[in-house]
Amino acid sequence: MSHPQPHRRALLATLAAGASGFAAWQSGLESPAKSGMARIAISLDLEMSRNFPRWEDTHWDYEKGNLDETSKRCTTAVCDMVRSAGGVAHLFVLGRMFEQADVDWLLRLVRQGHPVGNHTYDHVNITGRRLEELQYRFNRAPWLVEGKTPEQVIRDNIRLTTAAIETRLGVKPAGFRTPGGFPGGLADRPDVRGWLKEAGFTWVSARYPTHPAAAAGIEPDARFIAALVAAQEQAQPFTYPDGLVEVPMSPISDIGAFRTGRWKLPWFIRATRACLEAVIDKGQCFDFLGHPSCLGVIDPGLETIRMILEVVEKNRHRATLVGLDALAGQAKPARKG
Ligand SMILES: [Zn+2]
Repeated sequence: MSHPQPHRRALLATLAAGASGFAAWQSGLESPAKSGMARIAISLDLEMSRNFPRWEDTHWDYEKGNLDETSKRCTTAVCDMVRSAGGVAHLFVLGRMFEQADVDWLLRLVRQGHPVGNHTYDHVNITGRRLEELQYRFNRAPWLVEGKTPEQVIRDNIRLTTAAIETRLGVKPAGFRTPGGFPGGLADRPDVRGWLKEAGFTWVSARYPTHPAAAAGIEPDARFIAALVAAQEQAQPFTYPDGLVEVPMSPISDIGAFRTGRWKLPWFIRATRACLEAVIDKGQCFDFLGHPSCLGVIDPGLETIRMILEVVEKNRHRATLVGLDALAGQAKPARKG
């Protein structure tokens, strides 16, 4: 796991927390924040998304990792903005992106301390049990996976991405995020958790809690937002019985809002703010999930990220910006029996 570089506010908080806090912070698992503080993460999945930038776009289903310039610019802008607020953004990348000639823009972000995690090579469904369930690309080009079992394809997709990150960025992947989220996380897939552990991961971001689906073009009302706020309880880090840690994504994602719900930007900002403030009130964890291929088109001024940073700053005595490694350090232990 890569360790974010210390920044001024974290360093001050660490000093205030004393020697044990420092040791814990060095381990990379425990946030330098005081206990009881809300931990707020901003995570970005670097991939192309169907329906963006134009609604009729579907070819990205076959080349999710071929990141375009808008997405790269948006990623860089978010990272720079979060960094000037004293935090880091947690990035998840697809191995296929590293086939591009230039990754200097990402290297710069890594050197500034933004962690980069593994999101598979082709954006495969790692819970798929048949080859047809793994990825559109393999349905169009089945010879790429001919003669392999789904397990082999999935494990290769994970392994090759780690190799790509290590080769072109010179760091180890900071955690794993499943393509697509699952309401139960990987609770019912001990086999998949075993593959991830064998691939060297100590935590996974796989759970995306159930929440009311955004209805196309309908503004979220108070009831909808209350349900979304309630869903944050299901988005708190925990440990599976085999010791793998789950760091859920906090609903609602930009894709859920803008693709499924066809929301307007102010609705997304209002809903995200309500969830964020509720989490801060309870001293819990929040993992904002954005996709630069979507956010960069709908929210080019990054008003959503700006709002998150403002709310955290306003609550700086009880909320802190962290990467997902720090959220993993907050995981509740596994339930016995
Ligand atoms: Zn994804």
